[in-house]
Amino acid sequence: MSQYHGSACKICRRESKKLFLKGDRCHSPKCSFERKGYPPGMQGRRRRSKVSEYGLQLREKQKIRYAYGLGERQFHRFFTEAQRKKGVTGEILLQLLESRLDNVIYRMGFANSRRQARQLVRHRHFLVNDRIVDIPSYCLRPDDVIRVKERSKKLAAVHDAMQKVREGKTVPFLSLDKAKMEGVFLERPNRADIPFDVNEQLVVELYSR
Ligand code: SF4
Repeated sequence: MSQYHGSACKICRRESKKLFLKGDRCHSPKCSFERKGYPPGMQGRRRRSKVSEYGLQLREKQKIRYAYGLGERQFHRFFTEAQRKKGVTGEILLQLLESRLDNVIYRMGFANSRRQARQLVRHRHFLVNDRIVDIPSYCLRPDDVIRVKERSKKLAAVHDAMQKVREGKTVPFLSLDKAKMEGVFLERPNRADIPFDVNEQLVVELYSR
């Protein structure tokens, strides 16, 4: 399956989890999950029958895939790369996903959602180490400096997002200078520093079948 272009809120409801795919709306009473916390569709309100082990593994994979906005093939590529590296595969997978430029821009607060971050990157509004990078999946390395391009600093989307950001570290592996509109990717994150409540080990089990 390629990238999903349907309703983002239906994904949260299907996965029974807020995945924060829509920016501001996710933090407001308009959030569909807050209003209708049951799966979409005619059968949505019915009690779910017992979910199989495979079902649990699949749901966990889908949560990660949707949260980071990846298609099946792209996700699988990340997983294969994680498998090749030394260490705990599930943790490395999340590390790699957190190192993506679109994710870092979202975490730093330059965008309200990863989806918006992706669009801003594609429209060439960001510099990495003083060079324009327009590839959302660009993998950052420790000490890379991410900056809003001078001409893009007045962009309404960036400006609005930045209003809600606190100075300093948004997450332990990033630092932000709000006034300069720039931040540093300090290091690859430890699992404990990634604010995403998901069981990545189930994804490893799914692909080991
Ligand atoms: Fe999910 Fe709520 Fe955001 Fe919709 S508004 S994407 S349901 S968190």
